[in-house]
Order: sequence, then C-alpha cells, then structure tokens
Amino acid sequence: MPRTYWIETLGCPKNQVDSDKLVGTFVADGMTPADSPSAADLVVVNTCAFIEAARQESIDVVLALAEDAPEAELVVTGCMAERYGDELGDALPEVDVVAGFGSAFVPVHAAAHDAVPVTIGRAAQARVPQFDLLNLPRPASVAPWAYLKVAEGCDRACGFCAIPSFRGPQRSRTMADLVDEAGDLDVREIVLVAQDLAAYGRDQGRGERSLVPLVEHLRSMVDRVRLLYLYPSDLTDELIAAILATDVPYFDLSLQHVSSPLMRSMRRWGDGERFLNRIDAIRAARPDAVFRSNFIVGYPGETEDDHVALVEFVEAAQLDWCGLFTYSEEVGTYAADLADKVPAGLARERLDEVSALQDAITASRRDRLVGVRADVLIDSPGVGRTWREAPEIDGVVLLDESLPVGAIVEATITESLGTDLRAEPVGEPMPWVRRVAPVDEVGA
Ligand code: SF4
Repeated sequence: MPRTYWIETLGCPKNQVDSDKLVGTFVADGMTPADSPSAADLVVVNTCAFIEAARQESIDVVLALAEDAPEAELVVTGCMAERYGDELGDALPEVDVVAGFGSAFVPVHAAAHDAVPVTIGRAAQARVPQFDLLNLPRPASVAPWAYLKVAEGCDRACGFCAIPSFRGPQRSRTMADLVDEAGDLDVREIVLVAQDLAAYGRDQGRGERSLVPLVEHLRSMVDRVRLLYLYPSDLTDELIAAILATDVPYFDLSLQHVSSPLMRSMRRWGDGERFLNRIDAIRAARPDAVFRSNFIVGYPGETEDDHVALVEFVEAAQLDWCGLFTYSEEVGTYAADLADKVPAGLARERLDEVSALQDAITASRRDRLVGVRADVLIDSPGVGRTWREAPEIDGVVLLDESLPVGAIVEATITESLGTDLRAEPVGEPMPWVRRVAPVDEVGA
C-alpha cells in the first residue's frame, strides 16, 4: 500500500472537489501528503476532458509527472479516464492505472506491475460512473473558502457538450449531507457547484428543485455563499431573492450565446433579449450586482449576424466577468454532426474581437470600484477577495501581506490594475476561528 500521495488537479472546480474527496479517503487510509511528486509513492492526475486544449494539458501533465516521479505509482482519473478508459492506458504506457470516477485504482498494465491496488470504492464499468466520489469523506479546507459540489451529472443535452455522456444523469446529494460537509469544511465562504446547479434536487423524487432552501440554510452557517453555473431558465424570482439575501449578489449565468437560431441549434433555452431583461431586473433590485457568464464563439452555423448579435449583447450587458472560448468539436455530440463548420481562423478572429471588448468592459467596471469600501476575505498572504470576485476564476484584491489568512477586513479600494484591485484596510481584521484541523497539503 503506498504511504504518501500527490494529487494534481486539472479542469474545473468540480474536479477540485473530487480531488478533495480522494484526499479524504487517502488520509482515512493512513496515507500522508508528499512534499513533491518525486517524494510520493502514489501520484494521481485528476484530468479534464472538456475541450481539446484541456485534454492536451492533461496529457502533458501526466507525461511531466511520469518523468518527475518515475518510481511512483501513476494513476490517471477524472473525466479523461472516464471518457476514454483503457484506450488512455494503451496510449500512455507511463501510466500504471486508469481509474474512472471513484473506481478501484487497479493497474491497467497489471501483468507487468506488482503494485497493490488502492481501493477507494467500487470498480467502475467503462464510461458509466458506478460510484460517486461525492459520497466520500473530505478533509477540512486549507483555504478559508471551498467548493461544495451538490450534484453529479447533468440531464440536459446541450449540442456541444459531451459531459452527460460520461458523467451520467444528475444525482443530487441530500441537503443533510451537504450541510454536514459544509460544517466539516470549516470555511468562511462556500462556493456551490454542479454541472447544472439550479437543477439541484430535481432528481430526488418530487421533481422539485431545492436550491433555494439549501442556500438559505448554508447562509446561516458561513459568511458567504456563492453560486456558480446557473442555467438561465432556472434563474427564478425566488432564486434571485435567495441570492440577494446572501449579500453575495454575484450571478454566474451560463449563457453560451445570444442569437436565437444558434441557441436552438445549441439545444439551449433563451436569447439575448431575455437575458438582458433578467440582468436589468436584477440590477434594478441591486444596482451593484456582479455578473459573470461564458460564451462559445464559432459554433457550427454561426453566421456574421449571429456574431454581431453576440458583440452587441456583450456591449449592452456590461458583464463584470466573462469566459470566452472557441467551439471545440466533441465526438458523439449533436453539434459534431452539424454542417457549416466555422473555419478555425474566423472563429479565432471573432473570439479576439469579443475578448478585446469584454476586457475593456471588465477593466472599466473595476476602475469604478476605486474609493469603494468592502469586506475582503484574505485567501493567502497579501491576496484577498470581496464578494465581487469568485475564487480562482476572477481577479483578486491585493493588500498588506501581514493580514492573517482567513480574516475578513474592511478595506478601501485604492487602485484598479485591470482585473485586480489594490486596497487599504480601514478596520481591524475579524479573525478566522477554526474548529477543525486541516490536512496541511492537498497537492497542487
Ligand atoms: S448544462 Fe449543458 S453544457 Fe452544462 S453540463 Fe449539462 S449538457 Fe453540458
């Protein structure tokens, strides 16, 4: 049995939660974190298969770790392992084990390998998740914030997305489980994630969504509750009211595009006009609300008119944060068979145009915060966030390095640096009083 481990996590916040679950299991099995990959008996790469660039990055990381840690047992898990299974092991002889979500870490090259498998759950069958990492234990967070994954899988069928084909249908966790885990994480900010967050609870028997009561309950436990990945049709008045009541009026709307014909081809709800109406209504209730979204540029059939509609929407919506991607063809998806592919060069040009516009909007919205006072949560020495910034994906607030990690301090924004801000404290920091000892090292 390996005694020390190193976990490398790629991709989205949902993967980070899965990695935390693995850490919880390893620690429960008596293993300890290694200081570096080369010092570990077991190296795990939790991969991302979202788009081609993410897959390539995952493979690069696997190869680099194989070189850095030649003596360690090298395990590849996560979305690539679930999606490609043994094909991945055949293509990467450096890898000892390819393990789907939560499956037993059984060596794929078992005949040539005498390592003892590390069992972390029931064995998975190819491409069908048999075991949800969600149900595994998880250590207290090292940082003062943590993601909380409320469900696994997705019931939608967006034209470009392969995730439901290997993550499976939505399985929501119970509220009691989530409340327990939130308590054990011992953090000041909970960031709720799922493939389709607003659909949380719909699969639990009554067909009703139950995100609102969950948000209300968590709000009573921590300083901040933040929600990521809201499908726009599920952004109900009730959910908006619940978000506003958390005092984190941060709306991450998964929009993807705005042109009506293209939205239908993407097999998604909505259009630019409906999205703007929703954003305007929220701003009427809370003028300083912050909005994030993401868009795909160059989806098959995207015309010049569709692109102009997206540019006009971005100009009108004045979103604070935005993720922009060129379309990536995923085998087995509806969009992969569509005609009228957009040439890569043209998609890139369109991306550059929207990105330049959005970068200017983000910078100008950040400039307007100079002089504003806000509570800043100190994530690491000299680096914090107000409620306006989600961890890892938005900008940060830079402050004096002497402020204690986990403290919340009122500060005045003194400078805008594009996406980041600089701030000066104006009050005493409110310290983070921990109840649970965290695992010191979670890997990179
Ligand atoms: S909502 Fe759409 S894009 Fe998101 S995981 Fe589900 S199918 Fe994929």
